[in-house]
Amino acid sequence: MAKITFLGAAGCVTGSKYLVEAGGRRLLLDCGLFQGNKQLRLLNWERLPVDPSTIDWVVLTHAHIDHTGYLPRLARDGFRGPIFANAATRELCGILLPDSARLQEEDAENAARKGYSKHSPPLPLYTEAEVAPVLARITEFPRNAWQVVSPEFSIRAHDAGHILGATSIEFKITENGKPVTVLFSGDIGRYDQPILNDPAVPPPADYLLCETTYGDRDHPSSSPHEALAEIIQRVARRGGAIIIPAFAVGRTQALLYVLRELENWQRIPQLHVYVDSPMAISATELYRRHHEEHDLEFTRQEPNGDPLETRQMHFLRTPDESKSINRVTTPCIIVSASGMATGGRVLHHLARRLPDSRNAVVLAGFQAEGTRGRALLEGAKTLRIHGEDVPVKAEVIELNQFSAHADRGELLRWLKGMPAPPRQMFLVHGEPAAREAFRSRIEGQLGWRNVTLPKLGDSFELTPA
Ligand SMILES: [Zn+2]
Repeated sequence: MAKITFLGAAGCVTGSKYLVEAGGRRLLLDCGLFQGNKQLRLLNWERLPVDPSTIDWVVLTHAHIDHTGYLPRLARDGFRGPIFANAATRELCGILLPDSARLQEEDAENAARKGYSKHSPPLPLYTEAEVAPVLARITEFPRNAWQVVSPEFSIRAHDAGHILGATSIEFKITENGKPVTVLFSGDIGRYDQPILNDPAVPPPADYLLCETTYGDRDHPSSSPHEALAEIIQRVARRGGAIIIPAFAVGRTQALLYVLRELENWQRIPQLHVYVDSPMAISATELYRRHHEEHDLEFTRQEPNGDPLETRQMHFLRTPDESKSINRVTTPCIIVSASGMATGGRVLHHLARRLPDSRNAVVLAGFQAEGTRGRALLEGAKTLRIHGEDVPVKAEVIELNQFSAHADRGELLRWLKGMPAPPRQMFLVHGEPAAREAFRSRIEGQLGWRNVTLPKLGDSFELTPA
């Protein structure tokens, strides 16, 4: 009997890994890293309940590290099969996975230097050298067409509108001649957003896995333009700098797009905008290049110049260029990764700018439990950065209009597109409260039954109708 086992993102928003088995073959859907608090990160060090050498294939919904960042470890532990992804996801993995490896190595080095590791000597989960063989194994498969993986598995991707390359994945699983269909939402994006196509109408499926990142919340209905313009005017008037911890992929490009529009409309002063993240710069190039993913609005903008560039824009690649921002005392905008302030160059800017009340930190995306971003949102008076307690005097602003994730209403809109209710639905990729709340909504508003909240390690049979 075909079955699915939840190896991650079951009760949390990271570590997406779902093992689908049929006819003695094993396919892993996404291969994400657990991120956030220590308890979660420690899960990355536990052995998978399945031997990686017995997994035949991996299929990726999109390139975010919480969906791909465990791949080098899987390969180190014996996985040797192909990894299916579309062209944009493959290229983004080429940016994100080496960066993830560098962060793992840096963490281990910092821990060794400062002696705060449990391991002795502290080890990285994987190294940059272990990423190249993984990238070489990524096999591109087409968008919106069936790909036969084996007699047991066929897969088809549908636009998810979340980041460049992001898809939902439809499976046709055949065992003993009887087919069963499974749909995984991947991460669903937002409707009517700049740059990317909207999430596609989902196909029918016997079983559905749906993400619930914002299953208990709606994003503000006001436009991102108004909210951002108001913040920039206010902070610039008082002479402050605006620091935006932003995911290099997706959030950064959406921010740049809106900043350029606000400048065009003369709604904001033309400030120096620093994009301080080599990864964000590389990702921005991919966003310009992958026309197959662009919506009409973006395509229409293109003939009039670069839709992702403001008037006084600085792309900073080297550490010296990054440090040069420290000398900037006039109002400016610093966009720097990582998006939840868990690492990366943004930590240096936060350490420097948080103690000044003229400055502002704009949190423009989901902040997971246990991250510095979440601590800021919850009003932390100090923030621990590089072993020091930094006083938080700067204004902290939540700006969910830029979320790359569908909110509760948008997830319901996506679900309502299904031609018929699935026979069983699994809610994944959400914190416990969000999953519970979203189940009530589904039962109340859609009248769907059989909504399951799998726990880590749970398995379920996938039976043909
Ligand atoms: Zn994602």
